[in-house]
Amino acid sequence: MNPIVIMAVVLLATLLSVLLIGAVSRKRWYVDETLPPALASARLYASEQDMRIRKPFLLVGRPDQIFRIGKRLILTDTKRRTVARAYYSDRVQLSLYRLLLERAANPWWWFLRGRLQVDPVGWLRCITTNGIKYVPVKLLEETVLVDLNARYQASQRDERYPSPAPDPGLCRGCQYQAECPHR
Ligand code: SF4
Repeated sequence: MNPIVIMAVVLLATLLSVLLIGAVSRKRWYVDETLPPALASARLYASEQDMRIRKPFLLVGRPDQIFRIGKRLILTDTKRRTVARAYYSDRVQLSLYRLLLERAANPWWWFLRGRLQVDPVGWLRCITTNGIKYVPVKLLEETVLVDLNARYQASQRDERYPSPAPDPGLCRGCQYQAECPHR
């Protein structure tokens, strides 16, 4: 057989093997991840991208992974948890990432502004001893984040103490018990 044809066949076989291995590992990743149906058709859009905005307040962040389905961008954040669950702090964190994504003027995002929408539901990727579980998180509106930021800034200036936890049971595992004015 012509050596050029043999080389072409070898190259083609190598290429097909690489594609096949890639497809198999991707399929295994999807199985191991136990992705929820809402993310099953998602493609990775950005990972650990630094972002910074000045309005409505100065904010810097690096969302873990952003997935894309059509024109929708979906935020995820990974946490190690004994039990797969999302706390209010996770909700705030993912919501701040949405604010960053919507407002950031980074070049990778700027040219797409107005064409893509950030999903109102983000996902907490919980790594537990029983495997990986995705927990949906309804994101907070911008007005809530602006208010939270104002309260945080006021508490930093000692003008206002944070409100106590509504349920004393929530204080049990709190690392700030020793210095908390409500205890
Ligand atoms: S100890 Fe204080 S800071 Fe901690 S959860 Fe309770 S009220 Fe909040």
